[in-house]
Amino acid sequence: MAKSKTSAPASTHEKQVHAFMQQVIARNPGEIEFHQAVHEVAEAVIPFLEEHPKYKKARILERIVEPERVIMFRVPWIDDKGEFQVNRGFRIQMNSAIGPYKGGLRFHPSVYLGILKFLAFEQVFKNSLTTLPMGGGKGGSDFDPKGKSDNEVMRFCQSFATELSKHIGADTDVPAGDIGVGGREVAYMFGQYKRLRNEFTGVLTGKGITFGGSLIRPEATGYGCVYFTQEMLATKKKSMKGAVVGISGSGNVAQYAAEKVIQLGGKVVTMSDSDGFIHDEKGIDSKKLAYIMELKNEKRGRLKEYADAFGCKYYPGKTPWQHVKVDIALPCATQNELNEADAKALVKNGILAVAEGANMPCTPEAVNCFIDHEILFAPGKASNAGGVAVSGLEMSQNSLRLSWTREEVDQRLHKIMQDIHSTCLKYGKQGKSVNYVKGANIGGFVKVAEAMLAQGHV
Ligand code: NAP
Repeated sequence: MAKSKTSAPASTHEKQVHAFMQQVIARNPGEIEFHQAVHEVAEAVIPFLEEHPKYKKARILERIVEPERVIMFRVPWIDDKGEFQVNRGFRIQMNSAIGPYKGGLRFHPSVYLGILKFLAFEQVFKNSLTTLPMGGGKGGSDFDPKGKSDNEVMRFCQSFATELSKHIGADTDVPAGDIGVGGREVAYMFGQYKRLRNEFTGVLTGKGITFGGSLIRPEATGYGCVYFTQEMLATKKKSMKGAVVGISGSGNVAQYAAEKVIQLGGKVVTMSDSDGFIHDEKGIDSKKLAYIMELKNEKRGRLKEYADAFGCKYYPGKTPWQHVKVDIALPCATQNELNEADAKALVKNGILAVAEGANMPCTPEAVNCFIDHEILFAPGKASNAGGVAVSGLEMSQNSLRLSWTREEVDQRLHKIMQDIHSTCLKYGKQGKSVNYVKGANIGGFVKVAEAMLAQGHV
């Protein structure tokens, strides 16, 4: 985990960021992931505020780091042995200036306020970048779905949704999936919401196709990340064809990032889970990827079984970045999984581009290493925005009571990722190169800030 920054500043800009962060850290003690996410935005936005004093005068930055509402609740449920269990549930309603709160639910034992506030904060900027009318939110629980039966997961989801249903709604707050929350969990929560409220509305996204889900929603985050990478590569007259690609994770985002890379003629050589990573030098082709999808989504097995089945290398307890030479890296597992030593190894091995499929998978030191070496680097709030973009399209289809075709949704997704890339170029130009971190943060900030200014001091 990254530490909260407290070291002494130098320039005026650094002093301003430092002073601002001291306040944020004092008001949100112990929430280190939240401090990290705010620090990245503050570094990009504070110089911009100096050039645009109207935002500074209205104290937009001070307001934007304060959630509009934080909900914490008890989730009681009964396991298969008849024993009583208790977990903690959360929903962070961060910002509704440009639309209803929107963002996923995470079920993982590491979940606490600091992780969900970082994710909700990132979501505000990401959702703004998509150009769709969605505010930012996030939620979840410290419940661990691993090793639980379907019935246990259902009972947990029903208990969680019973409390959550009081705080969400199609025009208020629309949750979706994230780590540990896929189609199965969304369906159980949707069923319980419908039962309690007696209404069939688009209150959750990532639903099944038979009850209001959108085609391409499962694929959207992974596909979108690769579309964004293509745009970055095109600025250097490169493409995905023939590129050797390292992916971490083997969940929803990683699986569909791999599928799109393979479709575009790239060679995926690594994937991982929390136990270790596989290195398949021959490349994970579509047949082998189908094996991984079945292993992870249906059998709920471990990636080591892939190495046993296909006879490739398996590195227990390791991540790919220091061990494999790749042209493109797509970290798609979790926050702070790629550190400075990993970044240095990737740079030494001639990396061309890094696009975050996960939220904040690269530590600040790793990000600085990529930027200092002028590596094409896309922050998650830009490159993984495809998932929430198609969630926004699912909301539109639910409101219209229509379903668009696969091709139609995919085209819209592709166009949104191209537009996000253009926004990053517009705000991220730095001499001859582009700083995508700066571009995404300022680009995401401006729309929300304008809406907040217009709505008065609320
Ligand atoms: P997922 O389907 O649950 O998959 C998560 C993957 O990451 C699994 O392979 C998991 O391994 C691995 N992982 C989780 N925690 C880990 C840890 N502490 N160390 C190492 N590996 C770990 O989740 P997902 O939806 O793909 O989400 C992955 C990332 O993308 C998250 O950062 C999420 O916030 C972000 N994201 C997701 C979406 C979306 O639409 N789903 C959209 C935007 C961003 P195990 O199987 O061993 O747990």
